Amino acid sequence: MKQNTTHAALTRLSETYVRLVLAVGAHDADYVDAFYGPPSLKGEELPLETIRKRAAAAIAELKMLSPTRMDGMVLLRHRYILRQLQSLLARVDMLGGKKMTFDEESQALYDAVAPVYTEEHFRTLRDELGTALPGTGSVPERFEAYRKGFVIPTEKLDRVFTAAIEESRKRTARRITLPAGESFTVEYVTGKSWSGYNWFKGNCHSLIQVNTDLPITADRAVDLASHEGYPGHHVYNSLLETHLVRGKKWMEFTVYPLFSPQSLIAEGTANFGIEMAFPGEERAEFERDVLFPLAGFPAAEAAQYYRIHELFLKLAYAGNEAARRYLNGEFTREQAVDYLVNYALMSADRASQRTKFFDQYRSYVINYNLGQDMVKRYIESAGGTLRKPDLRWKIFEELISSPRLPSGLL
Ligand SMILES: [Zn+2]
Repeated sequence: MKQNTTHAALTRLSETYVRLVLAVGAHDADYVDAFYGPPSLKGEELPLETIRKRAAAAIAELKMLSPTRMDGMVLLRHRYILRQLQSLLARVDMLGGKKMTFDEESQALYDAVAPVYTEEHFRTLRDELGTALPGTGSVPERFEAYRKGFVIPTEKLDRVFTAAIEESRKRTARRITLPAGESFTVEYVTGKSWSGYNWFKGNCHSLIQVNTDLPITADRAVDLASHEGYPGHHVYNSLLETHLVRGKKWMEFTVYPLFSPQSLIAEGTANFGIEMAFPGEERAEFERDVLFPLAGFPAAEAAQYYRIHELFLKLAYAGNEAARRYLNGEFTREQAVDYLVNYALMSADRASQRTKFFDQYRSYVINYNLGQDMVKRYIESAGGTLRKPDLRWKIFEELISSPRLPSGLL
C-alpha cells in the first residue's frame, strides 16, 4: 500500500476511534476523561453491539496496513490506535457483563500486568519502615501518629499548594518548552473517591481538583503539583495537543478514554514526574526551605519526613495486592481495608475511601506505581540516569509528546 493511502486510512480510522470512544462514553460515565475535538465527531448514540462491530472492523483494517512502510512516529501512531481500540473492545465486553480476573482485565485494558508480591514481602518492608518511626505500638499506628503531626492546616492549604505548583512549573519550564498560554485552575472539592484529578479542557488549559475529604499531609503538595500539573498530566496533555493535535492533525488525541493503555503512560509519567522535577535530595531541601515553613512544620524535620516517605512509597504495591484480591472476590471490603491499613499503611478512613476507588476504577490502580516503575526503567535504561539530567529530560519529553503504549516501554 502506498504511503499516502496509509496516511489517509489512518486519518479516517483515527476519527472512527474518536467516535467509538465517545459512543462508549454514553454507556460508561467514567470512560471519557477528556474530549476537546470538533463536535462533528460526536455521533449518535450506539448500542454496545454496534460499537463492538465497528471497533472490530476498524481493528481488522488497521491490521491490514503495512507497518514496514511507516516512519517512526507513524508506526507508533498505528500501533497506538490499534491497541487503544482493542482495549475499547475489552471495555465494551465488560459493560456487556463479561467477567475477567484482575490481571486479565489490566492486560486487556492497560496493556500491562502488575507483579505479585507476598504478604511476607510487605511485612519486611513495613518493619524496615518501623525502625525509622518514633513511639510505641504497631507500625501502622505509629505511622499514622507520626503523619498526624504533618497535616497541612486547611487555611494554609491553598498557599502551600500554590507554592508547590509554582516551583514545579519553574523546574519543568527550565527543561521543557511549555506551550505559550498554558494555564490551569485549582479547585477544592469533597465527596470523591480520588485525592486529586486533572481535567484537561483543551487549549492547553486544565482544571486541577483537590479532594479535601481527608486530612492532607505535607507530601501531598508536591505530589499533586507535579503529578497533576508540572511535568505531569497538565504538561502531558498540553504537549500532546500542541505536537500531535495541532502539529499533525492527529485527532485521536482529542479524546482520552480513561480505561485504556494511555492511562498507564499518563499516570506513570505523572508519578515519575515528581522525581523529574525534584530529583534526589532536592525535594527534601525545597520542603525544608519553603513548604514546611509555609505549613507551619519544623523545617529541621523535613529530611526525616522524606526518608520515611521513601520507605512508605515502597509499600505502594500492597495497594495493588488489596485491589487484586478484593476484585477477584478473595477479599471482602473489610479484609481489603485491613490489608491496606496493615501493609499500605493507610488510615482506616483513607483505606475505606480507597476501596470505593477500587469499586469505581478497578484495575486502574496499577497505572500509578507499575506505570511509574515502567517509565523509570524505560528512561534509565535508555541512558537517562540522574547523572545525565539533560538526556533524562529529553527522553521524558519525547515520551509525553508521542503516541506510546505500555508494552512499548519494555
Ligand atoms: Zn493522575
